[in-house]
Amino acid sequence: MSTPALPPGVGAGEFARALAAFRDAVGANHVLSDAAQLLPYGRVMLPVPEEEHQPSGVVMPQSVAEIQRVLAVAQRYKIPLWTVSTGRNFGYGSAAPATAGQVVLDLKRMNRIIAVDGELGTALIEPGVTYKQLQDHLRERNIPLWLDFPAPGPLVSPVGNSLERGGGLTPYGDHFGHVCGMEVVLADGSLLKTGLGGVANTQSWQAHRYGFGPYVDGLFSQSNFGIVTKMGLWLMPAPPAHRTIMAQWWRDDDIGRAVDAIRPLRLSETIQNFGVLANATLIMTSMTKRRDVYDGPGAIPTARALEFAKSKGLPAWVYLFSLYGTQEQIDVDTRIVTAALEASGATLVLDFHDPMQSNELSLQAFTLFNWNGGGGLCWFSPVCPNRGTDVVRQTDLARRIMDAHGVDFMTGMTINGRDILNVMPLVFNRADAAETLRVRTCFHELLTAFAADGYGFYRTGIGFMDRVAELHGSASRDFAQRLKRALDPHGILAPGKSGIRV
Ligand SMILES: Cc1cc2nc3c(=O)[nH]c(=O)nc-3n(C[C@H](O)[C@H](O)[C@H](O)COP(=O)(O)OP(=O)(O)OC[C@H]3O[C@@H](n4cnc5c(N)ncnc54)[C@H](O)[C@@H]3O)c2cc1C
Repeated sequence: MSTPALPPGVGAGEFARALAAFRDAVGANHVLSDAAQLLPYGRVMLPVPEEEHQPSGVVMPQSVAEIQRVLAVAQRYKIPLWTVSTGRNFGYGSAAPATAGQVVLDLKRMNRIIAVDGELGTALIEPGVTYKQLQDHLRERNIPLWLDFPAPGPLVSPVGNSLERGGGLTPYGDHFGHVCGMEVVLADGSLLKTGLGGVANTQSWQAHRYGFGPYVDGLFSQSNFGIVTKMGLWLMPAPPAHRTIMAQWWRDDDIGRAVDAIRPLRLSETIQNFGVLANATLIMTSMTKRRDVYDGPGAIPTARALEFAKSKGLPAWVYLFSLYGTQEQIDVDTRIVTAALEASGATLVLDFHDPMQSNELSLQAFTLFNWNGGGGLCWFSPVCPNRGTDVVRQTDLARRIMDAHGVDFMTGMTINGRDILNVMPLVFNRADAAETLRVRTCFHELLTAFAADGYGFYRTGIGFMDRVAELHGSASRDFAQRLKRALDPHGILAPGKSGIRV
């Protein structure tokens, strides 16, 4: 086992003194520094060299006061801190820092559900609270509110997921869009409450998002400007009824028609939720292994994937979405969506079951890892305008590049009104160094080609953040850097997150 990395520019003796000071701040049991203890914090699924992302230690505070003490130590010794809530940012970097030698500030011990308001449909929670914990809380108290989960819901946190602007599949699927009020510790230890949180004895912190003056919450998402210690959430009132529908298109080139048929239904909010439009290969990962589909060279040929899918009764494209409301509303909406989707060539299964669209926690999505073993996963997440022509263009482009690198093309598109998050998992065997390098090269090529066609990205993993920031333009990079210099002049908080540094 190798010796843990040191923070950049900090000698071993000085780091030992910093660790002692961290222990004074949070208690000896809550500071990790042995290589064996740090191992899980340096493991990534991404096709990047792990040595570039090894932490130097882990500190686990339990309160804002402890975080402030940790920050004072970090400032004194110039130790960078990489904050995680539950640290399960799988396929984007897990708990590992963007650069080697940072101390992971693991907030999992801060796991209090501070308030839930059943009437207003709001919650106020700490970063270590998981979706499972929050759901148990609601169920134990018979509070009729639904949660919207990302696929690894039982294991992960609303705070970490929302700060990444992650998503789920109900009408509340835009997680950052349902954040209302945050408490943030800044790099100098000062405490900010956003929105109406600063009003003495505030009564509406979780009810109203904007407050007075500039609306700053977005600055703390996908960034390194602060440590979020409390987050307000809006939760969906349990609908009286819901129906999940599976629409299936049987030909690969139906995809443009499918998207053009879905868009008006999303824009009119007849379909309220973030349904997913997935291709046959992604669907197959939930039921079979790659070797049973194809064992030839290179990526699975599209024709072979479709032939196998057909033999199992699966279509080329599946769109799983739900209708929510009273039974009467659902009956009317069913007629509207059926007519529109059938006109585009779809066949419909009217009563399907999808846990994520039904307030049920599940780890079903992890079957993705059975596809070819080896645990490698890297999400390629371009944003696509919600238009058939653009989806066809992105699909052709991604397929061509992935084929050239022997990577299977899979996509699960989250369909919003005007945009689509075209989330493509690159699944690979991380134990195979040559394959890992191939996927990394492929990923860089995808980034460059999509940006050249004018497409941006919704999110990316460590190891790719500098490149993605560069592709979004120098003005926004400069702006972020100026904020960083003002708020955190010594670059203590998460250097390299989203490509932002002092
Ligand atoms: C099979 C599979 C399916 C997946 N499906 C989805 C999905 O449906 N939707 C989705 O969104 N993701 C999905 N993911 C990706 C990922 O696992 C989730 O997004 C997960 O919620 C992120 O991990 P976390 O909640 O533990 O966040 P963390 O790892 O705790 O945080 C993520 C990042 O946010 C920042 N951060 C976290 N907490 C704080 C804080 N308190 N203050 C300041 N900054 C902070 C840090 O930069 C951190 O790296 C999937 C992954 C897998 C493997």
